[in-house]
Amino acid sequence: MIYKRSSALFAAAQKVIPGGVNSPVRAFKAVGGDPIFVTEAKGAYLYDEDGNRLIDYINSWGPMILGHAYPPVVNAVIDKAKKGTSFGMPTEIETQIAELAVSMVPNVDKIRFVNSGTEACMSAVRLARGYTGKDKIIKFSGCYHGHSDSFLIQAGSGAVTFGSPNSPGVTKGTAQDTLLARYNDLDHVERIIMSNKEEVSCIIIEPIAGNMGCIPPVKGFLEGLRSLCDSHDILLIFDEVMTGFRLAKGGAQELTGVNADIVTFGKVIGGGLPVGAFAARSEIMDHLAPLGPVYQAGTLSGNPLAMAAGLTMLVELNNTPEVFKSLADKTEYLHHGIANALDEHNITYTINRIGSMISVHFAENAVVDFDTAAKGNNDTFKKFFHGMLNNGVYIAPSAFETWFITEALTYEDLDETIAAVQKVAKTL
Ligand SMILES: *Cc1c(COP(=O)(O)O)cnc(C)c1O
Repeated sequence: MIYKRSSALFAAAQKVIPGGVNSPVRAFKAVGGDPIFVTEAKGAYLYDEDGNRLIDYINSWGPMILGHAYPPVVNAVIDKAKKGTSFGMPTEIETQIAELAVSMVPNVDKIRFVNSGTEACMSAVRLARGYTGKDKIIKFSGCYHGHSDSFLIQAGSGAVTFGSPNSPGVTKGTAQDTLLARYNDLDHVERIIMSNKEEVSCIIIEPIAGNMGCIPPVKGFLEGLRSLCDSHDILLIFDEVMTGFRLAKGGAQELTGVNADIVTFGKVIGGGLPVGAFAARSEIMDHLAPLGPVYQAGTLSGNPLAMAAGLTMLVELNNTPEVFKSLADKTEYLHHGIANALDEHNITYTINRIGSMISVHFAENAVVDFDTAAKGNNDTFKKFFHGMLNNGVYIAPSAFETWFITEALTYEDLDETIAAVQKVAKTL
């Protein structure tokens, strides 16, 4: 395939946008080469500036669970836009989407809408701190909760239990309040809590991790976190920005049966427009301004276009819950197809999968946390990525990402994808 026009557009973009992109992972730094510029997308396909058609396994990093340019969502946005695009005043549709979201998600009474997953997680942590009166948070290495300061933290060195900034601009003071734990390692979490007694406000976790590839929790891990939180007066925050309205109507809480105290959303909840949200029991949510003292706000929060897209998406998912099973079936079919193709060519790999999330790791070991994910062979991944691209299949340009399956994919699309893997496997 030819990417001439994309490369020219990328050159122009780099002159006026840092790195040519508005979010770093789009830049292909992990795999090499120039990013592809999209002109439009429909259903399961992307169409780029050079006239190529690509089968899309990113789907805007998750939101397009029913496919690109899904007609009911597009129509809802057009209708709303004609009536004005923002008011900074309450609108009925905000209550409608709130009622529906709260009815779909277990264990929450109230929800507040923001503009991104980052904002949702940042606000959830502030709320947890305000509610408990404690400052520290526990997060897991390899889990992503957006780009706010408290989350851009890496494991500290030696005997210290607190983290250190992993981006310039994040202060040491902020880093000292974030404690880093190993995913799927309950003992580690317990040790951290014990050495920071009465100081930990919340544990924030991707209940099914998706930002180091797809990593499901081992048996008992989330249940163990729940009981540690209960014993130590700590709030459990499930970051369901990726898993919410994807793995089930009620997200990972429903799938795992473990209740969180605060849940954050993004991606699917906005139907492809910029939306995030966080939700909890009334007792917790009522600490937010204007009812309570914890401040949180947004000029464009609850924006009518965004709410129209989000509400339409949630209505569709709520009315056709069989879509979650169908997505999981397609993902399983893809899993077996990819596994067979890689086996035929004696490639070393590990595939992780749950529901409509799947990741292919070129690693021998089981991938259960950040360290084991990092052991994957990145050179093989790069070849795999570019090979798939040349065969018309677009997967995330980084080995640490989940593939997002969309209901718009047909079994013919999946077969075409598997055929591409068969061709590419020969070259790995
Ligand atoms: C994408 C993501 C975020 C950040 O959401 P943005 O809308 O990009 O700010 C937070 N948490 C998880 C689990 C995510 O996958």
